[in-house]
Amino acid sequence: MYVRFDRWFMMLILVTGALACQSISPTAAEVNESSAAAELSTSIAADGSIVLVTVRAPAGMKLDEEALKGEFADFHFPFYRAGEGLFEAVLGIPYSYKPGTAEVRVLISAADGREAMRLALPLTIIDGNYDAEKLRVSPKHLNPSPKDMIRIRRDQKEVGAIYRNISRTKLWDGPFRFPMNSAITSVYGTKRVFNGQLASYHSGLDLRAAVGSRVHAPAKGKVVLAKDLFFSGKTVMLDHGYGVVTFYAHLSRMRVKKGQMVEVGQLLGLSGATGRVSGPHLHWSAVIQKNKVNPMDLIKVLK
Ligand SMILES: [Zn+2]
Repeated sequence: MYVRFDRWFMMLILVTGALACQSISPTAAEVNESSAAAELSTSIAADGSIVLVTVRAPAGMKLDEEALKGEFADFHFPFYRAGEGLFEAVLGIPYSYKPGTAEVRVLISAADGREAMRLALPLTIIDGNYDAEKLRVSPKHLNPSPKDMIRIRRDQKEVGAIYRNISRTKLWDGPFRFPMNSAITSVYGTKRVFNGQLASYHSGLDLRAAVGSRVHAPAKGKVVLAKDLFFSGKTVMLDHGYGVVTFYAHLSRMRVKKGQMVEVGQLLGLSGATGRVSGPHLHWSAVIQKNKVNPMDLIKVLK
């Protein structure tokens, strides 16, 4: 793959500067006298956060979203059309991604499929400085039996398949809402110490919720899972399109079915205490290109 890029290496122009809205000079015949501009919603991002990438097509260059590809570290992300000649992509910075200088790349293909332009945007990754918390849970969920392990692997396989089949329709419109109006009891990113063992990190946001509290869709989406899973209990997953997936765990009742479309504000189910929990609450996760990121950024960053 890089052999092919070598041909176009001369076209690689680093967009420098602390603030990210920069344009680059024309480099390919297809682009003529115009230039493309790319912008990040922030030039400094913590691990586990969401960054919005915006690209404005060169004047006179007809582009569709398929001609744009985003790259960060070793993964790729798709762009969607956000207006006339305007494209956006949602990038999730993986949890515990190494702090330092990183790069977001945007590859633009010409009509014949060749790479016509490459933009590189510097992004400084900082440590999220997440706290640690100690929890007590039932030994069953901490040291699962061989039988439980079979179920856990089956759950992981099913959820993994969902991430591989993300839809290419942007379903959300505007910033996300909270799935319920309630206090945050545990923020994203906290290192979890279960019964004295460092087990994982908190991959979502917990909201205080007595059993039976109503849980609503934070944005339009398609139900891609509504099922009882070992760790997350009764779980609803929504695919919002373009790599943006959310999930709602430990529910007592699910009120939607797999395959169903839901509108913003629609009832997904009732909160509960199913799965690995130390008490009733709603666990809300945001998954961007398979990376579990801070759901707060769905509200703060997405448009
Ligand atoms: Zn949680």
